[in-house]
Amino acid sequence: MSVTANSVWNNCLAFIQDNIQPQAFKTWFEPIKPVKLSENALSIQVPSKFFYEWLEEHYVKLLKVALTRELGDQAKLVYIIRMENTYGNREPFTEKIPSTSRGQMSPQEMDVPIQSKNPELKNPFVIPGIRNIKIESQLNPNYNFDNFLEGDSNRLARSAGMAVANKPGGTSFNPLLIFGGVGLGKTHLAHAIGVEIKDKYPERTVLYISAEKFTQQYIESVKKNTRNDFIHFYQLIDVLIIDDVQFLSGKSGTQDVFFHIFNHLHQNGKQVILTSDKAPVDMQDIEQRLLSRFKWGLSAELQNPDYETRISILRNKLYRDGVEMPDEIVEYVAKHIKTNIRELEGAIISLIAQSSFNKKEVTLELAQQVVEKFVKNTKREVSIDYIQKVVSDYFEMDVATLQSKTRKRHIVQARQLAMFFAKKFTKASLASIGSQIGKRDHATVLHACKTVDNLAETDKQFRKYIEDLTKKFS
Ligand code: ADP
Ligand code: MG
Repeated sequence: MSVTANSVWNNCLAFIQDNIQPQAFKTWFEPIKPVKLSENALSIQVPSKFFYEWLEEHYVKLLKVALTRELGDQAKLVYIIRMENTYGNREPFTEKIPSTSRGQMSPQEMDVPIQSKNPELKNPFVIPGIRNIKIESQLNPNYNFDNFLEGDSNRLARSAGMAVANKPGGTSFNPLLIFGGVGLGKTHLAHAIGVEIKDKYPERTVLYISAEKFTQQYIESVKKNTRNDFIHFYQLIDVLIIDDVQFLSGKSGTQDVFFHIFNHLHQNGKQVILTSDKAPVDMQDIEQRLLSRFKWGLSAELQNPDYETRISILRNKLYRDGVEMPDEIVEYVAKHIKTNIRELEGAIISLIAQSSFNKKEVTLELAQQVVEKFVKNTKREVSIDYIQKVVSDYFEMDVATLQSKTRKRHIVQARQLAMFFAKKFTKASLASIGSQIGKRDHATVLHACKTVDNLAETDKQFRKYIEDLTKKFS
């Protein structure tokens, strides 16, 4: 049997698996792909720079032993960093030779260093005369790593956060950008990193601030003619955490000043942590040069928590509040609130409150009422454009085809389904739906809705379409 990259790597994996925790194996070794074997060098593909560094820091010895067993003393390992989700990264492949001979990372763009004209620090936020500048970190100690539960949905972001907390400014995750939808833990994680740094390095200046407040301060400083002081203040900080940077979109003055602050901090080895509700690639009205900075470090996504994680978050919450609740109830809540941890917590808090105020036992029925309230209130309005997009994707056609005048049966059906869902999920009138879906009149839409209702009753395949699509909208 011939020796291939695959066979070598599989043997290594078997050895590694015997030597580390299953969870660590799953996280750090399963995602690796063997790519190439030439003589005694095995190339493996890893999903990010972060991954590569983590392996180097924690598993290099193990890897070396495993590989030497397979390829002898001359064994070499080459990492290929392949970002599956390259957010506009122009260099999807980067080769790295491990450990000792590690090369310099090439910066993607050069910075123009900013000279601070005034070395004497004037700080608008500190009473003059106090020499020892102390900046309140604005951190919330209730948001820490201990109560930020780990799951598949947040593992990368959480471990990157830990790595940054251990070595602020000393990893390549600078900036660390945490992004994800509402209520998925961005603010919590950002605080947790800050709290952990304060704990480990009490002498470092950490500052948490929302992008909104940052903007207000900046505008204020312009009014008062203290823009330079504003900049100097921020340049003093060792770990700057800015929450919800999407708020800066369209605000070019604030972006400009942030750009300078960022460059200064970055050049001086200070850590920047950002959160955003979108990946850099989807951010709008943010200057290109700033976006490119965001991509320098690591963008880690917080995804929707899976069922197990939702259960553990609920259990943890109950445990911390010293409340007991039947499994059935916890499971019900976890099953029905899927995309927002804040709502998940809200529902359970509301249940606890109801049961203690009204001295009512928490029944499944009560849980249903509470959950329904949460789910209904938060159901996002889907747009007709979105519906057309989803339906077209589902039937593998483009939106123009769906809207076209053709009488081909499968296209007509797709169009009718789009109209049906538009009626069901938006508040738009029949006329407005018609005009947006291929310029039809209200009678056509009405007819479409009736046809879909009929087919749903008589045609099994069609019913399946409706079920699949309904899931995509709810
Ligand atoms: P975002 O800033 O993304 O909108 P938050 O950080 O405000 O979300 O989180 C919303 C709520 O969910 C907070 O109460 C937070 O403590 C909680 N939460 C989020 N993720 C987790 C987690 N992994 N473990 C425990 N609680 C979490
Ligand atoms: Mg937040």
